[in-house]
Amino acid sequence: MKRAMLYEGKAKKVYRTDNPYELLIDYKDEATAYNAEKKAVFVGKGQLNNAISSILFTMLHEAGVDNHFIRKLSDTEQLVSAVTIVPLEVIVRNVAAGSMAKRLGLEEGTPLSQPIIEFCYKRDDLGDPLVTEDHIRELQLATESELALIRQSAAKVNDVLSTYFDALGIQLIDFKLEFGHKEENGQLVLADEVSPDTCRLWDKETGERLDKDVFRRDLGDLSTTYQKLLERLGAAQ
Ligand code: 5GP
Repeated sequence: MKRAMLYEGKAKKVYRTDNPYELLIDYKDEATAYNAEKKAVFVGKGQLNNAISSILFTMLHEAGVDNHFIRKLSDTEQLVSAVTIVPLEVIVRNVAAGSMAKRLGLEEGTPLSQPIIEFCYKRDDLGDPLVTEDHIRELQLATESELALIRQSAAKVNDVLSTYFDALGIQLIDFKLEFGHKEENGQLVLADEVSPDTCRLWDKETGERLDKDVFRRDLGDLSTTYQKLLERLGAAQ
């Protein structure tokens, strides 16, 4: 049963449940970008992201990627394992886009010869800065063995999701993951969300954006875009 709210983030609210090891996540209709400088509400977005992330977490679990998802509870809610988040954003890139294209002077859409993993320090007040493994060690954000597990899991997620989306005519350009330690037993698992809010997804034929860049770059209505994506995912069920 839904108990007190534990935390309200930009796109989700997190509630306690009767079980101390399980939390309820309620996906909101709000979208934010550029460290919350840009904000808007898209009716139906929470429901769409809950549906899409439930499908993707279930698929990743079946492919052997341990994650926090337990089950979908309602249109906007899902039950997850309680975790302590590792304060890193783990970004995996197959094609240069977004901040990497900008930082390195690459044309957006340039394919990378092999996937690249970047780490950012999860600190809103600092704008989530890019950090090296030496910084991570210095700040004790994760141990060497945790980082090795995170890299391994992120690479597996990339393989599984790239293959899955490719079959739907969609290219997985890049995505952001977060990991956490289960409060029940300390196991390091994939957490947070995997959705078009956290991935770049381009239609292979047309290049159409099927992700949050539609909002970031004012390319159209986000709920319409996410609905289109969910329909393509639904067709693969
Ligand atoms: P970039 O660093 O190019 O802005 O983002 C790379 C990828 O990670 C994109 O798929 C983007 O959606 C995701 N990403 C990076 N940081 C964040 C963040 O703070 N919030 C969300 N929702 N996604 C992020």
